[in-house]
Amino acid sequence: MNKKEILEKFSADPKRYYNVNLFEDKGFERRSCNICNRFFWTLDSERVKCPDHSDDTYSFIGDPPTSKRFDYTQSWKEVESFFVKNDHTSINRYPVVCRWRDDLYFTIASIVDFQRVMGSKVVFEFPANPLVVPQTCLRFKDLENVGVTGRHFSSFCMIGQHSIPNENGYWKDECVNLDFNLLTQQFGIAKKEITFVEDVWEGGGSFGSSLEYFVRGLELGNAVFTEFQGDLSNYKTLDQRIIDMGAGLERFAWITMGTPTAYDCCFGPITQKLIQKEGIDSDSSVLVPYFTEIAKNLELYDDLSQVRKNAIKTTKLSDEQINRIITPLEGVYLIIDHIRTLIFAISDGALPSNVGGGYNLRIMLRRIISTMDRLRLKFDLDEIIDIQIDYLKNTYPELEKTREDVKEIISIETGRYDSSKQRMQKIVSKLNKEPKVEDLITLYESDGITPEYLKEMKVISEIPSTFYTKLSDLHQSKKQKDEINFPLEGISDTELLFYGEDPREFSAKVLKSFGNFVVLDKTAFYARGGGQEPDHGEINGHEIADITKHGNIVVHEIKGEIPKEGDTVSCKVDGKRRDGITKNHTSTHIINTSARSVLGSWVWQHSAFKEEDHARLDITHHSALTEKDVSNIEKTANSIIAKSIPVKIENFDRGTAEQKYGFRIYQGGVVPVKSVRIVSIGDLDIEACGGTHVENTSDIEQIKITKTKRIQDGVVRIEFVSGDSAKEFVKKKQHDSESKEKEEKLKEQEKEKRMEQRQLAKERIPVIAKSLLESEQGISTIDEITIELAESGKANFCYSTSNNYDDVFHIGLGEILCKTDPKMIYCGLFEQGEKIRVIVYAGDDISKEKSAGKIVKNISQMLGGAGGGSPKFAQGGGTDKSKKEDAIKNAKSMINE
Ligand SMILES: [Zn+2]
Ligand SMILES: [Zn+2]
Repeated sequence: MNKKEILEKFSADPKRYYNVNLFEDKGFERRSCNICNRFFWTLDSERVKCPDHSDDTYSFIGDPPTSKRFDYTQSWKEVESFFVKNDHTSINRYPVVCRWRDDLYFTIASIVDFQRVMGSKVVFEFPANPLVVPQTCLRFKDLENVGVTGRHFSSFCMIGQHSIPNENGYWKDECVNLDFNLLTQQFGIAKKEITFVEDVWEGGGSFGSSLEYFVRGLELGNAVFTEFQGDLSNYKTLDQRIIDMGAGLERFAWITMGTPTAYDCCFGPITQKLIQKEGIDSDSSVLVPYFTEIAKNLELYDDLSQVRKNAIKTTKLSDEQINRIITPLEGVYLIIDHIRTLIFAISDGALPSNVGGGYNLRIMLRRIISTMDRLRLKFDLDEIIDIQIDYLKNTYPELEKTREDVKEIISIETGRYDSSKQRMQKIVSKLNKEPKVEDLITLYESDGITPEYLKEMKVISEIPSTFYTKLSDLHQSKKQKDEINFPLEGISDTELLFYGEDPREFSAKVLKSFGNFVVLDKTAFYARGGGQEPDHGEINGHEIADITKHGNIVVHEIKGEIPKEGDTVSCKVDGKRRDGITKNHTSTHIINTSARSVLGSWVWQHSAFKEEDHARLDITHHSALTEKDVSNIEKTANSIIAKSIPVKIENFDRGTAEQKYGFRIYQGGVVPVKSVRIVSIGDLDIEACGGTHVENTSDIEQIKITKTKRIQDGVVRIEFVSGDSAKEFVKKKQHDSESKEKEEKLKEQEKEKRMEQRQLAKERIPVIAKSLLESEQGISTIDEITIELAESGKANFCYSTSNNYDDVFHIGLGEILCKTDPKMIYCGLFEQGEKIRVIVYAGDDISKEKSAGKIVKNISQMLGGAGGGSPKFAQGGGTDKSKKEDAIKNAKSMINE
């Protein structure tokens, strides 16, 4: 059965599904629309068409049917006071980032607040009954409608009226009664204006009949009577029936104000402010007919550009009017809407990125910027954020706390977009054909080029409808782990000793053994979970290979002999390893909260890994961490250790924990059980967590961050050590830096010594020269200078390769020697920094046969450099210090040849 068939089935039995007491009491008549045949209930005897096809559709624009006027803030106050007066609890909105559901990134309806997934089943958990909630919901599938249609938003407030029929709550009759009174009494809408339409609503594996209520063609709310589960052809009655009434707060405001669009009355003073700033002529005689026409046409055509074209034609607007009024207004509406959504999303911890739900946020910000560019609007985004939060905090006071964080994230993201534009333009200019959906995905994934940008650049005319679905599929498909199917049926839950006394040695009974696996009646071995690695240890002296948890049963994999079922085994946990892991686990919580306090409210745990001697925490953050960030996080973490804060562990009913501590508890993801274990470190960090923890933060002694890295867009990895590992790390680092210091000191000393020697050498040049010249025939060495006096007539050679001499010395000594002995060739080689230099002198006589310039040229080449000069004096050098001795040998052979 499809939805249409099930509706037909329900409508065939109106008494069972739709006829509520109110209809009887007030004398509502049930009619079938003479155009679409849908059934509706009305007090207006002249009404023969359903709201979609009535003539008064959207006639409230410019002529509201109420005597009262309420804007967005006031409308909620009215709704809230009405329901509270009628024994409902008004609860605060839940985060727009849906932390309690794995299958949803954002909260899309108020009922989602109370849905929890248990295995394959969705269960409802209400913090109060009955209740009402102003739930901000994010929906991105109609983005192109936002700003254009007058009523589409990327985020809106769903008034959630929810009840479980029991001694406190109610069912259909009371629900519809309340909704009718809300409209008539609180909002002053005439009874005849209200039409209830029969419908069916399904979602989250359950469904039921529903009554949508309309005023002048505008659907204000939908009361769903959820009572079946399963699919539409094969279903059974739910154990727990639910009233799921959702109404759009923006529409409640709109119907009382009768403004051309819902945007005009729902964003507070910012809309008028921007309209005035841009000097847009918001002439209501143009806007009222135009937007009424748009609203009517929306029901008739799927294609938005067609809707717009028709409205322009019917209202006879000129191109000039469109360009001067409508187009800039659409831009202003879009910008305000998108910023409002970003305020909620960023406040609740989401970051623009290229993955998951972050993608939608990035797209929205880019749409804001490109709209401003296209229309040449010069808006100050910070100012828009400020004015919006000033207005929104009447209903959502929590937004005040994240005001600056929202500005920071938007400014970082705007800067990134601006700096990537040039690169994007270059890539786009190289595209030679219109890209297909697959190409669009590649362009986005690898170059960050959004289809919105390509549309703006006129590369594509439309964004393919499959783009967003394909992209989100790509990011949502989680790898299915190969689940080994263990034969665990009928085995009772394992008693977990590590949550109690946590002995290092214990004995237990074998409940089941198969393959290499053993299930015990109780265990103190921690099974892999929550990023915490499993314990090591022995069962009956045999080493454990792995420990895993399946539901509430712990399975131990053993290397070696497997005990028999019924045996009692003695078990030993590797305590040292566990202590290391435990310290690292509590440290993860400490670093997480430290990072949040240092960096900003957007920091959440993305994932974590804890081993005995090292651990890592991946957090959500927009940029790579700076050295200062790291040092501040480390300082904050160690100050938490220094404060010796007790680590408290308590079990709560999930709903109670959520209400008491909020959704920050889900750092490690969704908790699929009704009772949650809350680990709190004072009021600094409170998380739902099943891991092992120290009793007091002081037990950790020390935390040291060893490395950080940006591992993906919006995620930063922090690697760290704690306890003994941290101490060792610090010791090693200290040792490393000490020995490095020592080495440097030694080098410095050597350098100083050499400088001294060189100074001394300069002063001793005449003395050294004298001794050299007085030396006997043959080879002699004085102060690291070698002199080879040849038989008469041949060249005498004097050289030094000592680094104790510098250029001033060689020039000084060479000059004296060669002046005194015209057959002398002097060669000085010495290192200077990275280089090796050479200086050659030749006496008057010998220089005619052996040129100093030639010798230097030759030697310098050997040293990997260049040099030259006159026959009597030349200098040069190179970089290859290893060729020093070869160079001298070469000089000698040049002289003796
Ligand atoms: Zn109809
Ligand atoms: Zn934990």
